[in-house]
Amino acid sequence: MNSHAIEHLRNIGIMAHIDAGKTTTTERILYYTGLTHKIGEVHDGNTIMDWMDQEQERGITITSAATSCYWHDHRINIIDTPGHVDFTVEVERCLRILDGAIFLLDAKEGVEAQTKVVWHQADHYKVPRLIFVNKMDVIGADFSRSVTTIKEELGGNPLPIQIPMGSEKEFEGVISLVTMKAYYNTGKLGEEIQMDDIPQIFIDEATDRRKHLIEVLADENDDLMMLYLEGEDIPEDLLNETIRTATLAGNITPVLCGSAFTNKGVQLLLDAVIAYLPSPVDSPPITGQGHNGEEIHRKADKTEPFSGLIFKVMTDPYVGRLAFLRVYSGTIKTGSSVLNVSKNKKVRASKILQMHANNRTEIDIAVAGDIVAIIGLKFMGTGQTLADINHPIHLESIEFPEPVISRALEAKKPSEYDKMRASLAHLAEEDPTLVTYINEETGQTIISGMGELHLEIVLDRLEKEFGVAVNSGKPHVTYKESITKAVTVEYKLTHLGATQATYAYVKLNVTPKERGTGHTIRTTFDSKKFPKEFIHCAEEGVKQSLLSGIISGYEVIDLDIDICDLDYDEEQSTDIAFITAAAYAVTEALKQGDSKLLEPIFTVNVHAPENYIGDVMEDLKKRKGHITAMELLPKSHKVIATVPLSNLFGYATDIRSITRGNGHYTILFSHYDVVADK
Ligand code: GDP
Ligand code: MG
Repeated sequence: MNSHAIEHLRNIGIMAHIDAGKTTTTERILYYTGLTHKIGEVHDGNTIMDWMDQEQERGITITSAATSCYWHDHRINIIDTPGHVDFTVEVERCLRILDGAIFLLDAKEGVEAQTKVVWHQADHYKVPRLIFVNKMDVIGADFSRSVTTIKEELGGNPLPIQIPMGSEKEFEGVISLVTMKAYYNTGKLGEEIQMDDIPQIFIDEATDRRKHLIEVLADENDDLMMLYLEGEDIPEDLLNETIRTATLAGNITPVLCGSAFTNKGVQLLLDAVIAYLPSPVDSPPITGQGHNGEEIHRKADKTEPFSGLIFKVMTDPYVGRLAFLRVYSGTIKTGSSVLNVSKNKKVRASKILQMHANNRTEIDIAVAGDIVAIIGLKFMGTGQTLADINHPIHLESIEFPEPVISRALEAKKPSEYDKMRASLAHLAEEDPTLVTYINEETGQTIISGMGELHLEIVLDRLEKEFGVAVNSGKPHVTYKESITKAVTVEYKLTHLGATQATYAYVKLNVTPKERGTGHTIRTTFDSKKFPKEFIHCAEEGVKQSLLSGIISGYEVIDLDIDICDLDYDEEQSTDIAFITAAAYAVTEALKQGDSKLLEPIFTVNVHAPENYIGDVMEDLKKRKGHITAMELLPKSHKVIATVPLSNLFGYATDIRSITRGNGHYTILFSHYDVVADK
């Protein structure tokens, strides 16, 4: 079957703000694709089994990391992306390994907070995408407005390739602007599709919209432009081809519509995934580093040496530890040994599995482009590279954000201390955003993560999955510090300790940078004769001293540090003198640069019915929140505010009581800002 050809493979993710209908749409996709390929793909004998409890919704099982399904001789791997914002990093790591994405919008809301964050991440990874305006059947559904919000809120370049026939209760189906036909879903669950002429009342709108479509596409393809200028008909194939290349180039984002819940439009969405989203060969070759740090590229080709990235590690109650792997090049066979490049250890893949919605297939070989689960690897961790032993490549790992919140833990039974540490190590292997360490001053075990909920889930899993009961302290915010004005500082070290004479001179220009941009450490000092190792030590001293600032020992962030002058003495200078002098110089810069404590600020987005909205705002103000926007929506009002994370503990419970269970909210990390006087 063709679905084994790499061109017939699609690795996609479905991105959505919570409640936009991701679960419902995924269910429909698995149902319709299951219908057409119920038999034949499954030669199992494997237990049909459910994944983790939390991931089961409404009876259907969606495997947690990746699910394969088939549509018109193509294989589609749907990579699961979590809905909650504490897990945006998980979305990020999914974006790293997928080739294309569907962005779901709620037709009455248009673009929402989380969509924005993920959209910008998708921009960063240059992921081609489609937009599906879902929920066309609900009150307030508005296709045109949704498209406008894409332009305004995302700066995207949306191009409707469909329009809805009616909306709200009258939503009947969709019109394709490519075929200029109307499509209706019939059958009990919309499994059949009827194509018909466009009803009279939609002809004008469809004609206008198609004209716009063709005008935009004419700029993307010369042949199409010629036909357009000559007033000729444009063949469907040429339209499709142009939509595809423009989508892959990131010049347009095709917009489709439907209603997953009432079974409309989902099959056409699948058609569009195949027609317009990339296969692994359409994505650029993956880059990584070779043995000596040199940059190397690997094509999505099975004749290249094997390379792959572990993007998720999880524990399966039946088969144990699974590593989900995106194969970028070459092949990996069952039973073969490969190199875990990140750990520099040889590992053996004892089994390779392809995961389906409710079963799994053991396969002998996985090839470039595939997404599979591997059992039996002795060393595995999220973000690690596997590669051919003789041709190692280290793929660029996923960047994980710093944790913003911490809690202290202790085992309820002192005898379980070791078990607790081991279990935490296990969890941290699965989840790189979870950091665990021992506070040297207090001896306490600390866990740090992305948000309150993130740590709650860790505690829950410790107890339920690992059987370790723990007592935990209150969550604490992770502060940072940074200077508020640019300074030039110098430090001349003449003694180490009280007596030992030494010498090192370091001069720095230190400038605050924009939040979230990290440090830049440069050496503009240029002297060929100056000993290289002293320059290196000065840089090292700078780096080390940035790890703990002068206010309360929190990490220093976002500085541009230019080592602009150095001096040494033939006799007396040593490595340690330069490390120390540079560290003192940084401390001096923090003092003179008026370093301030910074705290994480979150964007809070609350929806609540009108009669509660006053109380919601009142409460946000008490939490030192700044209301940045308010929107009056048909059923519930929306308030957006920025609030220090330290004032958001327990918000889930509080908002429930303020709105008597009628409100809901999302929070997103926004930025670090100077701690306001309390
Ligand atoms: P998720 O949070 O993105 O996974 O959203 P869900 O799929 O769980 O959907 C949230 C709610 O919206 C559920 O009550 C769904 O039944 C409902 N829903 C999803 N899609 C549609 C749709 O197309 N029309 C209507 N009317 N409701 C929908
Ligand atoms: Mg869901």
